[in-house]
Amino acid sequence: MDPATPLAIALPSAPPLARGDLLDLANFRDTSGHAASFFFSLQSIPDKSHHTEVTLVRDLVREEKHRVDIKQAPGLAEDLEAVLMRAEEVRLSPRHWRILYACHRQGFSRKFALPAPKPIRQLHVGGRFLLAPMFWALNFCTPYGVLTFERGRARIFVVRGLQIQEFSGRLPKENITLHVKESSQTSSEKHLEHHMEGHVRGYCKGLSEKVRVFLAEEKLHEMVFGCREDLWGEAKPEFADLEKSILIGRFVPSDYDMPAADVREATYPIFEENRRKSGVALLERISDEPARGAVGVNAIMESLIEGRVQKLMLGRPVEGTVNECDNCGHVQPRADGPCIFCGNTSLHNLEADEGLIRQAVLTDAEILTFDGDGVPGFTGAAGLLRY
Ligand SMILES: [Zn+2]
Repeated sequence: MDPATPLAIALPSAPPLARGDLLDLANFRDTSGHAASFFFSLQSIPDKSHHTEVTLVRDLVREEKHRVDIKQAPGLAEDLEAVLMRAEEVRLSPRHWRILYACHRQGFSRKFALPAPKPIRQLHVGGRFLLAPMFWALNFCTPYGVLTFERGRARIFVVRGLQIQEFSGRLPKENITLHVKESSQTSSEKHLEHHMEGHVRGYCKGLSEKVRVFLAEEKLHEMVFGCREDLWGEAKPEFADLEKSILIGRFVPSDYDMPAADVREATYPIFEENRRKSGVALLERISDEPARGAVGVNAIMESLIEGRVQKLMLGRPVEGTVNECDNCGHVQPRADGPCIFCGNTSLHNLEADEGLIRQAVLTDAEILTFDGDGVPGFTGAAGLLRY
């Protein structure tokens, strides 16, 4: 394994895979069929003494060794060895996805870690790297911000899948209780209340500016707020701009010093609910504007090839297949004729989601995936077209 291969996720808000990584993976071909794709995570912590994860990965490797004549493929044996080594890392954080894309024959090896909250166990060896399993998980790892605040103090976090990180020193502090003490000697209670509200408004105004800067710097598009209900009434006007598109929901923190893990726990369902809502809205848009929509595997494949798809939406199960040319490697709608790119007559079937995702990566379409009940009634594929 290449020791220089960086492990993804340096910054919580940086994408775990850069665009360049995705293009490299989508374009990669190994004509001898020795490109290995490995995905593994356990959502319950295994009994350490039994090395469950190592046993499970070893089983996957053994199956693959039965399928491929490993004596004829010394390079592949090296890659499967690298897969077994990744199993050793699983124990450090079993719930995180360990991903390895390797082809020793061509000197290609890249590993990634995804904090995706779902289990996976898959090893595939073939002429291409598998992208679909990773994309079904990436959507659970879209980062969002969380702001919790009281009168005069605030905390800010970034959540990505299973991970949460708190950023300190990025928000203003103001000791409002001090102001209250000073003024209480000279003011009536009504005046005091008025004074207090003014301070809360002033503080929230400053806070909303800092939050805006934070969102821009961390390239976040979604935010959850946590504060007491009564405080929200006073603070709301100061956050009006943010509220329109970025604020996806609110919660009431159990306590100002709530542990970060609890903040993630309390806000992740809000993020998931918002994901579902945006899926429903996108589907509505596609059906309301038929000129800008494509539905069904073949229609979307055609639009993808033309570079017209802005958003590709997939709902499990995505049934059907597409074709991949054995000569030029292009994916295309399923048809009986020769390859539409090179005229070669030898083509093979490819799972529809894998083919659509690969072509979407190559043409820079956004990919949104939904599990069974994600968007009610939606399975298969739909696309929003650029024009
Ligand atoms: Zn071809």
